[in-house]
Amino acid sequence: MIDSAPRRAAGSLFGLAFGDALGRPTEFLTVAEIVGRYGPTGPRELVGAPALVTDDTQLALAVAWALHDAPGHTAAEVEPLLRRRFVEWSVSPENNRAPGMTCLRACGELARGVRWQEATVAGSKGCGANMRVTPVGLLDVDLDTLAGLAQLQAGLTHGHPTGLAASELTAYAVRLVCDGAALAELPGRLAARAREQRAVYRADWLGDLWQRSGERTPEEFIARGWDECLDALARLDDALARADDGGDPCRYTGEGWVAEEALATALLCALRHPDDPVAALARGATTAGDSDSIAALAGAFVGAAHGLAGWPEGWAARIEYADQLATLAAAWDRPDGPTPTGGDMPPGGTTAAGGAGQ
Ligand SMILES: [Mg+2]
Repeated sequence: MIDSAPRRAAGSLFGLAFGDALGRPTEFLTVAEIVGRYGPTGPRELVGAPALVTDDTQLALAVAWALHDAPGHTAAEVEPLLRRRFVEWSVSPENNRAPGMTCLRACGELARGVRWQEATVAGSKGCGANMRVTPVGLLDVDLDTLAGLAQLQAGLTHGHPTGLAASELTAYAVRLVCDGAALAELPGRLAARAREQRAVYRADWLGDLWQRSGERTPEEFIARGWDECLDALARLDDALARADDGGDPCRYTGEGWVAEEALATALLCALRHPDDPVAALARGATTAGDSDSIAALAGAFVGAAHGLAGWPEGWAARIEYADQLATLAAAWDRPDGPTPTGGDMPPGGTTAAGGAGQ
């Protein structure tokens, strides 16, 4: 029986957490060690009760709750909530999952109450900003607001232009899939967005952040970020032009410790297994690089494509923070949204009408 409501927000939010949980034990292992422990197809079962996630899911929840609770979606309305959630996370006893140093440093400054443009780690484009951004893609907002929110939440901790641009593209990818785009369309659609936005500095969201960079103009600052994302997307295209050899996707698109590589490598995992969500997660978890973040983002993408029904039965009850994920998903899933593409969308399939005009 086909579920009439695709539940893409649930699929994406839980997919992020599932990927994070599968990649958690493998983040600091080599591929040989991962294969030795799990076999050639990588980890495919949730372990533990609950199955623990990492800072990726914790911070995605922080972003999601800030957006959920904000009275509106402007910079002035959202920034204080993001700041509070990030700082609460940083001092929480649950913040014991190998968190990124950039986030910890920036949160220490945010807690002191300084302007976020001064609190942020201006030179960091670590993947910590885009591993947590996918909830932005689930909001029913216009594309300028999506872009502003994605970049703002990144900028609070990661002030490098590539962190901003990659975060926007990551959120935009989720939005496109929720609107009915096939996963196979994403590389081309994201590259088009990057070219179109290349000289757009969002001063109403970012204020004077660009001045910390040493660039001469705000346009030159942001263009550097979009150009690095375009380079990563070009490497993704090169990888996709080859037959899948079954090996570590990081060899083509990078290890994902930085933002643009996390996006490209997660997309590569999703696009190698567009009809098999668990295989996409396992592929991300079987990597030499930032396995939990790569698998988490791959999960957010394939989960949006397949909806909650794409994941194994019972997983949603076994994952850490299941209650929070379910509450947010229920708030954001649109019962009258586009019909699910499910597992029968052919690679290179066509866009549903819902993708137009966004
Ligand atoms: Mg992590």
